[in-house]
Amino acid sequence: MMRTAIYPGTFDPVTLGHVDVVTRGLKIFDRIVVGVADNPNKGPLFDAETRFSMVRETFISEPKIEVARFSGLLVDLAHQYHAAAILRGLRAASDFEYEFQMATMNRRLDAQIETVFVMAREDYTFVSSRFIREISSMGGDVSALVPASVLPHLCGR
Ligand code: ADP
Repeated sequence: MMRTAIYPGTFDPVTLGHVDVVTRGLKIFDRIVVGVADNPNKGPLFDAETRFSMVRETFISEPKIEVARFSGLLVDLAHQYHAAAILRGLRAASDFEYEFQMATMNRRLDAQIETVFVMAREDYTFVSSRFIREISSMGGDVSALVPASVLPHLCGR
């Protein structure tokens, strides 16, 4: 049986930290569906279509990865892809509170779907989409921290 996990996020923009989570996830699962949340309430810098296309381009040559846009409940997306698990990444202890709440809520919505956490690679523990947005808006070079698909979008701002 093929084991699928959903890796949801805002990906505003996708970073090499996200890519590392997906790479680790592929050691455990046969297929990862990266779910790009519309999340308009988060006031993202990039619109959903741009975030989606940056993620899609990042993983274009990897057949075990699919990229989907979603706006409803995460568990509904998981059902749609027959996913057994939700994949999330943990950096510092500060991530834990929010991740714990989200995992608990998703478990209440569907007790069959497990949330699986992987730890960030040490040299990416400080990498976040917010950090990328801030540094690049001030003219800093973030090219070593994001996939190539993101760079033209950051430069265009
Ligand atoms: P969300 O808005 O759902 O938090 P993000 O795109 O910010 O979406 O993050 C998606 C997931 O990826 C979260 O579980 C986050 O903790 C994880 N993540 C983000 N950056 C890293 C990183 N550098 N290393 C490991 N996990 C990360």
